[in-house]
Amino acid sequence: MTKKERFAFVISYFEQHAPNAETELIYDNPYQLLVAVILSAQCTDKRVNLTTPAIFERYPDVEALSHATFEELFPLIRSISYPNNKTKHLIGMAQMVIDDFNGEIPATVPELIKLPGVGRKTANVITSVVHQQPNMAVDTHVFRVSARIGLTTNAKTPLQTELQLLKYIPKEKVYIAHHWLILHGRYICIARNPKCGECGLRPACKYYQQITKAQ
Ligand code: SF4
Repeated sequence: MTKKERFAFVISYFEQHAPNAETELIYDNPYQLLVAVILSAQCTDKRVNLTTPAIFERYPDVEALSHATFEELFPLIRSISYPNNKTKHLIGMAQMVIDDFNGEIPATVPELIKLPGVGRKTANVITSVVHQQPNMAVDTHVFRVSARIGLTTNAKTPLQTELQLLKYIPKEKVYIAHHWLILHGRYICIARNPKCGECGLRPACKYYQQITKAQ
């Protein structure tokens, strides 16, 4: 199977089986999504979703969050990984959005990555989820699943994975492909013991072909 054929199989499979894949983070607007994505670094979406309602109640918009103090915000996110840094990042992000972006959450990757706590992955998530821009956010699931299936070859960094995926995924499908790969990694192609027996991607998966050949 050529790489092109592999991509075609995977895309067609997900189009049939997960046509409405979307983020599992709960949010109502770009401000809430940005807060949730910053909190989700090294943390599960489930835990973030348990935490954000209290934050959004206390700080309903970016203006309110820009006035938060560390002492007020920290207790609300104490149960999440890296609460110290994340508290500082959230307040810093809100202050910069107010000071430099007229209170509007930026809509481009170069602008978003200027914000504290926002790297390329977070910026790609925001622009693809909110604006459906063809930006591929590569987290640990996307990185692993892409390599196992054989969508990427010898990718050593998330950026290499991102660029290899963008070469083959049609632009208009990039935003949803990100969710396909994340959710597949979260529930089927899990890190330690991938559930190959339940996986519809077997005919196109390099990893599966290797383990069955070895048996
Ligand atoms: S066949 Fe196995 S390794 Fe390949 S994508 Fe499916 S779960 Fe992952």
